[in-house]
Amino acid sequence: MKTDGQHDKPEECPLSADTLEEDIARHIRFTMGRDPAKPNRHAAFMGLAFAVRDRLMDRWIRTQRTQYDTLAKRVYFLSLEFLPGRFLMNYLISLKMVDEARRAVEAIGYDLEELEEEEWDAGLGNGGLGRLASCYMDSLACLDFPGYGYGIFYDYGIFHQIVQDGWQREQCDNWVRRGTPWEIRRGEYLIPVQFYGRTEAVTDAAGRTGYRWVGGEVVMAMACDILVPGYGDDFVTNMRLWRAQSSREFDLEEFNQGDYIGAVEAKVQSETISSVLYPSDEVEQGRELRLKQQYFFVAATLSDILRRYKKLDRDFSELPDFVAIQLNDTHPAIAIPELMRLLMDEEGLTWETAWPICEKTFAYTNHTVLPEALETWPVDLIGRLLPRHMDIIFEINRRFLSTLAPIGKTADALLPRVSLIAEGSQQRVRMAHLAIVGSHTVNGVAALHSKILKESLFKDFDTLFPGRLTNVTNGITPRRWLAQANPSLAQLIDDTIGPGWITDLKRLRELEPLADDADFRHRWISVKKKNKKRLSRYILRKIGLGVDPDTLFSVQVKRIHEYKRQLLNVLHVIALYHRIKADPAAPVVPRTVIFAGKAAPAYHQAKRIIKLINSVAAKTNNDPDVQGKLRVLFLPNYCVSQAEKIVPAVDLSEQISTAGLEASGTGNMKMSLNGALTIGTLDGANIEIMEEVGKENIFIFGLTARQVTDLRNNGYNPWSYYENDAELRRVLDSISRGDFSPTDPGLFAPVVESLLHKGDYYMLLADFRAYVKAQEAVGELFLDQQEWTRRSILNTARMGKFSSDRSVMEYAENIWGLKPLPKIE
Ligand SMILES: *Cc1c(COP(=O)(O)O)cnc(C)c1O
Repeated sequence: MKTDGQHDKPEECPLSADTLEEDIARHIRFTMGRDPAKPNRHAAFMGLAFAVRDRLMDRWIRTQRTQYDTLAKRVYFLSLEFLPGRFLMNYLISLKMVDEARRAVEAIGYDLEELEEEEWDAGLGNGGLGRLASCYMDSLACLDFPGYGYGIFYDYGIFHQIVQDGWQREQCDNWVRRGTPWEIRRGEYLIPVQFYGRTEAVTDAAGRTGYRWVGGEVVMAMACDILVPGYGDDFVTNMRLWRAQSSREFDLEEFNQGDYIGAVEAKVQSETISSVLYPSDEVEQGRELRLKQQYFFVAATLSDILRRYKKLDRDFSELPDFVAIQLNDTHPAIAIPELMRLLMDEEGLTWETAWPICEKTFAYTNHTVLPEALETWPVDLIGRLLPRHMDIIFEINRRFLSTLAPIGKTADALLPRVSLIAEGSQQRVRMAHLAIVGSHTVNGVAALHSKILKESLFKDFDTLFPGRLTNVTNGITPRRWLAQANPSLAQLIDDTIGPGWITDLKRLRELEPLADDADFRHRWISVKKKNKKRLSRYILRKIGLGVDPDTLFSVQVKRIHEYKRQLLNVLHVIALYHRIKADPAAPVVPRTVIFAGKAAPAYHQAKRIIKLINSVAAKTNNDPDVQGKLRVLFLPNYCVSQAEKIVPAVDLSEQISTAGLEASGTGNMKMSLNGALTIGTLDGANIEIMEEVGKENIFIFGLTARQVTDLRNNGYNPWSYYENDAELRRVLDSISRGDFSPTDPGLFAPVVESLLHKGDYYMLLADFRAYVKAQEAVGELFLDQQEWTRRSILNTARMGKFSSDRSVMEYAENIWGLKPLPKIE
């Protein structure tokens, strides 16, 4: 055993790059049990991965120690989703070890890119929300903020999408089948989490009444840590992801009765809590297992937070001085009644002392205004699964509503509007209302979105709690989305302005003057060309389709959702097709239109749109008149590692949601940062991107959010556009007629129906003409490669604002009250 005196001694053996090769061989041999002389690719990847992890581990231990020593306030980022993608290259870049790693693996006969491809994406999220959480983890670490991510270690992440006969098919994503080198399992550290049972009143010695939650069943939460390093320094933090474990290896009673198999079944059943990620995006399904997942991870997390806090030996009233908890959407909002329960039932605080502690600890980020995505849970379900929490939610509501009466706000219909409980045939808990009432700050994720929250969705709360609602515009990490995804562009930027941009993205402004430098533009063009060739090879490999890297790459990659309007893009593609067919000799700007994205498995309309994209692709790509002019394709299984291949190759970024519905978007930021020009509506962060890059360097079209609401209120009539726009009419008629589904002419009828007979909720027809015009301007500009490139450079140069470092600094200053740790010795 080491004595305390030795504790401060540098046990840090820096594990330098010199020994990397030896360490890889050692891990191949002793961790993997393989012959280091000729490891297969997987063994080589694992050997490298473990050698890299070793180098982070010691830094992590020292980071933790510094946090304890300085009594730093910490932020806990609670999210049901994280979408980190692959880790290997991220770790190597953070450690500044890419070149060493390349040399070391070459010595055993592999190249680094090949080993990179061995790694399965960690797909523990659906899309933007999960990816945002991962970008924020990266920035927290980079900025040396004491903080942790908390979530669930799903055995099955977001499904693997394949395309069969043009349709999406889902396959399960068994991402840990071969084990992951990155998880650090805390098998000895288990936290009990209770479900079901009932509430009991108890009277203590002093005659006061308290409550206890008794009975029910217990599931254990096992901690699994994944490291998150800062860039180029010694700061390393972690995400702690919980896995469900049965509370007893055998149910003794059942075992004694001879039902051995039944006992094991019960064990397996309780472990399903963490087995699968819910694959819907922007829709809440309200299933019991989902609520169980939410409470499971919240209960384990709060127990972990309080355990750590208690080591400080301070009064609970000081909790908000040491702990900030950020709720990533309402998915973890059950944390609010859980903290109340812990403080009152376990720690003996009164409601009056516990409630202000809660309010000062929590903050909530809203990510959507879509009604179908706003979570509500039946009172019956919460009451059965979490009886004590249901009592507490009712009490929070009673007290909240009673504060409104004295200030004269009950006169109108305010109470039912703001109540945490929605009345109706079935009472439901509105999780957003719970999160707003229980938090000190609520933020939207882009300026427009936060304005809509204040003026419409949460208007009443903005009046009741002035100043509580605020904005933090989303951001993306430049480490992954420029340095890692686009090494050629990163190198060109390094050579031109130095490497400072990677931790201070505003420095990209120094590129601005070079937009007018013909030589620099030439180099910029070659980088884009190289990336487009790389993507073309990938497309050929994945779907067997050849594409020409000299054509305009127009790209819409994101979850498939009607509000994102992939269908509007398809309507434009069909219009282009008709124009080519009408006059095959006319000159056109050749385009490659690329789609990718997953549809929620039960979202039939979205799946039909994927089928339509593939049908339009099949028809146009096989038409000799179209050769060299138009190519359309759908890349299966959009995920982070695929995004890293696509983003650097984009010429035109399609961000065409119905104004007012895309909260922020982050795909828009990734592409513009990599020199794409955007065609987009005045929605989400597009507006702020326009403000930064300049109106003249972006293609904006379509209705504004205000115009969308006005039009809807004044009776929107899609037929008037159909009747007055001959080209639009031809497009819709050709779909209805079955031009793209000759063997099943009615196949796409539901698509046209949604536009003409079901009211065109997302107003595609209203924006069609403006979109086509904007696309014409795009084509024209693309003919002038010098001017296009000038604007491309200006886009990259002016994207500094959209670093997630800026977002996280705003959270830290304005919401968490957090300071960076002093540099680690
Ligand atoms: C960035 C990203 C998203 C979000 O894209 P949006 O265009 O903002 O919807 C979704 N999925 C993946 C894999 C991403 O990398």
